[in-house]
Amino acid sequence: MGTGFLFQFCPRCGEALAPERPCPACGYRQYRNPVAVVAGVLLSSEDALPSPGRSIAPGQATHILLVRRSGTHAGAWCIPCGYVDYEEDIRAAAAREMREETGLRVAVEEICAVKSNAHDPENRTVGIWFFVRYLGGAIRAGDDASEAAFAPLRNPPSELAFPTDREVIEALARAGQESGGRSARGAGE
Ligand SMILES: [Zn+2]
Repeated sequence: MGTGFLFQFCPRCGEALAPERPCPACGYRQYRNPVAVVAGVLLSSEDALPSPGRSIAPGQATHILLVRRSGTHAGAWCIPCGYVDYEEDIRAAAAREMREETGLRVAVEEICAVKSNAHDPENRTVGIWFFVRYLGGAIRAGDDASEAAFAPLRNPPSELAFPTDREVIEALARAGQESGGRSARGAGE
């Protein structure tokens, strides 16, 4: 079976479909592509929100904001994330997901990571992780999240919902380790 095969019958006219072929009756072609998901990486140099407006560089970060999921993968933790609506700007989607799942207002900044997600073979996605800067609001879990809390980058919860989140967190932890020796503790803090 081809990876593009989704419908057995044409969703437009009801004719039986063969894999990898357009509908013999009306010409409809089914496509199956990964869907875009966005995630917001909010870093802190302590187990608490940074001061509003302050950007924490990956090299200075020790913690990342995670949410505990209540929908799919209930009970497991993930970086706040969600689907991009059809007409929605991708950065606006990241800010909206942060607001809905954590209660926080954030500025969406540069891309932290882009990865193909294959953990669910029936629902492949392309994940875009954005660094976000805290602007305001108090942590209040909502929508698909039952809890929101900072987790140490070097010791995240063992129960993470998505393997790619773990890769992102491990890369951020390495970035902290690499710059740890020359982080200007006396200068900036
Ligand atoms: Zn058809």
